[in-house]
Amino acid sequence: MAKIKTTFFCQNCGAQSPKWIGKCPSCGEWNTYVEEVIQKEEVGRGTWKASPAKEKRAAVPKRLQEINFEEQPRTVTKDAELDRVLGGGIVPGSLVLIGGEPGIGKSTLMLQIALSLPQLKVLYVSGEESEAQIKMRADRMQQFSDNCYVLSETNTQQIFQQIELLEPDLLVIDSIQTLHSQYVESAAGSVSQVRECTAELMKFAKETGVPVFLIGHITKDGSIAGPKVLEHMVDTVLQFEGDRHLSYRILRTSKNRFGSTNELGIYEMRTDGLRPVANPSEILLTQREEILNGVAIGAMLEGNRPLLIEIQSLVSPATYGTPQRSSTGFDSKRLNMLLAVLEKRGGMRLGQQDVFLNVAGGLRVDDPALDLAVCASLISSYEDHPVPGDLCFAGEVGLGGEIRAVHRIENRIAEAEKLGFKKIMVSKYAVKGLDLKKFKIQILQVSKLEEVYQRMFG
Ligand SMILES: [Zn+2]
Repeated sequence: MAKIKTTFFCQNCGAQSPKWIGKCPSCGEWNTYVEEVIQKEEVGRGTWKASPAKEKRAAVPKRLQEINFEEQPRTVTKDAELDRVLGGGIVPGSLVLIGGEPGIGKSTLMLQIALSLPQLKVLYVSGEESEAQIKMRADRMQQFSDNCYVLSETNTQQIFQQIELLEPDLLVIDSIQTLHSQYVESAAGSVSQVRECTAELMKFAKETGVPVFLIGHITKDGSIAGPKVLEHMVDTVLQFEGDRHLSYRILRTSKNRFGSTNELGIYEMRTDGLRPVANPSEILLTQREEILNGVAIGAMLEGNRPLLIEIQSLVSPATYGTPQRSSTGFDSKRLNMLLAVLEKRGGMRLGQQDVFLNVAGGLRVDDPALDLAVCASLISSYEDHPVPGDLCFAGEVGLGGEIRAVHRIENRIAEAEKLGFKKIMVSKYAVKGLDLKKFKIQILQVSKLEEVYQRMFG
């Protein structure tokens, strides 16, 4: 009997070590090394077929001018949000990872996409759910495709056998953590299994040109469960996020070899599936009768898309000793900085005030152009005076209380105008040299925090 060979793997970053170590020298995490059994025999590893493909001809250098570049024909789906985050449709032979917390709706999204492409033969491999459960889910969506096949299997070699028989045009794996390859002996979901299975699928995708979507579960701290290695191996990483209790879901590109990484797709979760939201600003703004204190609208950009978003805050005297600072959807360090600036430059006494800040719709935002809306919202709550309902904001606030220019201000102004706002407050440096006559919306130009108060309520 062959001797069993084991190695220790960091469950966080995938680094290897022949012996157990407490702190990973690669990623610095503590206590992440786990012993895994690896098979001694290395023959056949990383192949997806029983008979490996013929050796390709060795590549020879070409002159740059001689290279014919043709944009690969992408498959455009019926889902405009997915096409956008992928950079314009599905690229042949690409390996796409969809990450997200369990229960957020990754399987629903992928099944829906599989069903919406009747022109393609899609194989949906599930190690999570039985065939009957998938059928029930599909029935709820009320979408039908004659070309969608379901396979309940977790062994990669078995899956590849079925693939050779079926010859699908698109492969969905739900999820990568349930797969196991017979070439590696450790348990499904372990670092070496995830890495091996991904390598086999990668090879399959590149050799056949069939695009592969992998679903991957995310751990609580936000990383894809298991190794970061997985994120390095695939072509595209999409994060599917949102609050499970809210109906909105966000699909965000965090890596893309075939497009920009700043793109964002928004979906509404309904009983019959996920509905792409074409005009997100309308849902991110609360429909309201009366104007509340502490609410301000900011014009932000996500990727190339301008979005108007509602910032809510509550500033109230602290009753239990140390004042609380809490923020949802907005960086809390940035909030603290803005509070310090408001205190120093705006003369607000915030030392004994609780401050709560919330970005509506469960979105997480990091566009500095929202600073001005955050400040306006805080001022409004502090003063108990509502921000006028027809006013929105786009500007970065500096440490000196100066209002700084933000990029692509024209897109933000145009979006505000489109949604019926009458006034937008921006940095006066942002609109220098712009032709403002083409906008009907009134543009309030400010350069200092002191002016903001005046222009808001004056
Ligand atoms: Zn590590």
